[in-house]
Amino acid sequence: MSVTVKMIEAMLEELAPVETAESYDNVGALVGRRDAEVNRILVALDCTLDVVQEAKDLGAELIVSHHPLLFHARKNLLEEDAEGKILCEMVRSHLSLISAHTNLDQTDLSGSASCAKLLHLQNIRKASDYLFLGELEKPMKAIELESRITQALSFPVRRYGSESALIATLAIAGGADDGDWTAAQALGAQALLTGEVRHHNALAASMSDFVLFDGGHYGTEAPLVPFLAEYLQKRLNDVQYNVRVYPSQYAPFGSV
Ligand SMILES: [Zn+2]
Repeated sequence: MSVTVKMIEAMLEELAPVETAESYDNVGALVGRRDAEVNRILVALDCTLDVVQEAKDLGAELIVSHHPLLFHARKNLLEEDAEGKILCEMVRSHLSLISAHTNLDQTDLSGSASCAKLLHLQNIRKASDYLFLGELEKPMKAIELESRITQALSFPVRRYGSESALIATLAIAGGADDGDWTAAQALGAQALLTGEVRHHNALAASMSDFVLFDGGHYGTEAPLVPFLAEYLQKRLNDVQYNVRVYPSQYAPFGSV
């Protein structure tokens, strides 16, 4: 029995139901054919032209991405803009796309939960829709935690706040979620790791003796890729299907 795009869509639906996504979002099966046969799947953060090429090189029929294509409504499909080019190339190459975005952000395979695992936090828990919390094995100075995060994410991290602040509980909201720092503080965390820190939040947090770590949108969400690929591979192995799942090796910003 062959595996189809529709069956992978159902596996993702069990993990991250489409109805839990934000109303502005665009998730689920977005490109291709639900009845297309799948033997190889490529999991990526973004479905870029390079990722489409990577899928073609692997002989994959399906890309599973975190960030969706067609996030904004289109009125044409011309190859004159980046997304139009990607969509046309996918159709030409018989590639399908499923995206799991804000619905995935609320699961333990989110970028936030994945960062928490890479940092070996203890008692990792979901504190609100998009905020995860965990404890360090012992309180650590912010400057020490900064280098630990940089190492764990393999991505440079910027710290806003005192280098000597002691952090016992770290909140994580991957991607663009710096506004959650007040919620994180109210939940007992001393710092928040997120992906896009705006100046007014950096200033307000540091005046409240709270530390913000900016690990970049890519840096704080790319860690979900191998975990999501592992999840899909396990689910497929459970039913003994001969389908391979590959985490994308493509780094959109080069090695940093
Ligand atoms: Zn994101």
